[in-house]
Amino acid sequence: MYELDKNLIPLFSSNEIHARVKELGSEISEKYRHTHPLIIGVLNGSFIFLADLIRSISIDCDLDFIKVKSYKKTKSTGKVQLVMENSLPIKGKDVILVEDIIDTGLTIKFIRQKLLKSSPKSFSIASFLSKKGTHNLDFPIDFIGFEIPHKFVVGYGLDFEGKMRNLNGLYYMKND
Ligand code: 5GP
Repeated sequence: MYELDKNLIPLFSSNEIHARVKELGSEISEKYRHTHPLIIGVLNGSFIFLADLIRSISIDCDLDFIKVKSYKKTKSTGKVQLVMENSLPIKGKDVILVEDIIDTGLTIKFIRQKLLKSSPKSFSIASFLSKKGTHNLDFPIDFIGFEIPHKFVVGYGLDFEGKMRNLNGLYYMKND
């Protein structure tokens, strides 16, 4: 089996993930029921979470993407690089930034700072995962799927050296 070959330990099953993503979608739909938010997905890692999340949202929303690079193998490089700009106007919009995982918080800080310069009406963050005790942010992560220990995870869009994004569940890597 692929998961055994790659030394993966299951953390959340596909069913558990879908149940939690549905809850997040309901929370977002309720909070934004009087508006029409602009959802911005952070590529590449968030693409599967984002695809499921927007299908759990029952209000109209616009969609855009931004792409950054910050990781080498399983460790943060400490440097965030913008690879692709978002393209829809942000000024006056209720923006929801969608990220796969918050580890050191450097990536989210960098993107938040950049997007706030374009004067959105409001700004919130939805992250599929947040690692406990690894970041100390001076702003909230408004919607979090799961809080997880400080270990490297793969699957459901998250990669190891570009691979394993296609796994339906979320896994720890045994050797991390
Ligand atoms: P941060 O800047 O918060 O340290 O890291 C954020 C980015 O690093 C995430 O968007 C993600 O791409 C990558 N990352 C952080 N932790 C993990 C992890 O456990 N697994 C994977 N696959 N990527 C991670």
